[in-house]
Amino acid sequence: MAEGGYTTPRAADTLASAAGIDQLLGRGGAAFPTSVKIDAVRRAAASTALAPAVVANGAEGEPLSIKDRYLLRFRPHLVLEGVVAVADALGAPEAHVYVADPIARAAVDTAVAELAVARPAVRVHVFQAQETYVAGEETAVVRALTKGIARPTDKPPRPYQVGVGGAPTLVLNVETLACIARSLQSPSAEAGGTFLTTVSGGGRPPVLYEVPVDAPLHEVTRAHFGDDDTGRDLLIGGFFGGLLPAWSDLRLSHAGVRLRRGSLGCGSLHFLERGACPIRIAADVAGYYAEHNARQCGTCISSTSSVAATLAQLGNPTPGVNYASMLPRWATQLIGRGACAVPDAVATMIRSLLHFYPQSLERHLAQGCEACAEAAADPTPRWEHLTVSLPGCAAKQESPSDPLAVSA
Ligand code: SF4
Repeated sequence: MAEGGYTTPRAADTLASAAGIDQLLGRGGAAFPTSVKIDAVRRAAASTALAPAVVANGAEGEPLSIKDRYLLRFRPHLVLEGVVAVADALGAPEAHVYVADPIARAAVDTAVAELAVARPAVRVHVFQAQETYVAGEETAVVRALTKGIARPTDKPPRPYQVGVGGAPTLVLNVETLACIARSLQSPSAEAGGTFLTTVSGGGRPPVLYEVPVDAPLHEVTRAHFGDDDTGRDLLIGGFFGGLLPAWSDLRLSHAGVRLRRGSLGCGSLHFLERGACPIRIAADVAGYYAEHNARQCGTCISSTSSVAATLAQLGNPTPGVNYASMLPRWATQLIGRGACAVPDAVATMIRSLLHFYPQSLERHLAQGCEACAEAAADPTPRWEHLTVSLPGCAAKQESPSDPLAVSA
């Protein structure tokens, strides 16, 4: 620790090797290689007169994830150390912390004031993000910081080309920045060798775990449920990665989950109750997207509503409607059809139903489903049972000094 608890500044070309981040994948959900992102900003900045900027993205609009809020509330200096390290490496005089949760905002404000004393060379601003699903998409982040509108834009340009105030901008998720900081603090530690996963559902209170990358799923189920039971289904990567059978040998890495046709996304794991209807859950997620899309891309607006209505109807299918052809069509046609990945997420959800639950779909089409019909008739917002809030997370409230109570 060189200055006020913060590590020594490093140039961009030495940061990757010093922090061992050349293998680190971003933790916001897209899993883009961090060192490639840093290098893209460095090269873009070299060809413009504008100084580059850095943004710590802590918007975390994903309803099933609390990891970023946890880091900003309880480990703000760890995130800021990552911010300062990449700002130093890029020669960025300004950085922004983009945060939605008001409690996290207060913790960050305090930490930034302390940082200003320890490291005055980098000016860090805190920006209040909107609490919407799409506010954390990286072009929405840049648009919010520049124009006050937290909605995604078409790409290109990407933020590394034209970012905050037109400057090349590095937008990194706050967990990614915390990984960089931890690696700088402990050079022997592998950058990103573990990840934070919000585990919820299955009739148990949600808990935030720190898990080794590529750990088998049964290590998490044993820690969370006390057994290796594979009789549950899994909503993976928040609302983004689809539904999967909870195979005990599923490897918890982006590559491991991709091999099984899912996406690890932001790393969260939501277990369905035993016997829960996967089509009802898919309808709940589609219902969320129908209400929480940013209402600016025609295909997204119409298709999320149509998918949500169609899946909700499967509890009591309308005779003569060719549901069997609609779902495969959406599963392919929605890919890449929006300014952000919401249509892709809906397509992934449908593909997972078609691939893993074809018998359940056939049964719904043939005879309907009581659980789906009940959910469709319930006036409560369908997705409400699929949200996790930090104050409701027992492990964090009971032990705020060390909320990562269990490491699988
Ligand atoms: S794809 Fe959907 S959620 Fe994304 S920007 Fe377009 S309308 Fe908004």
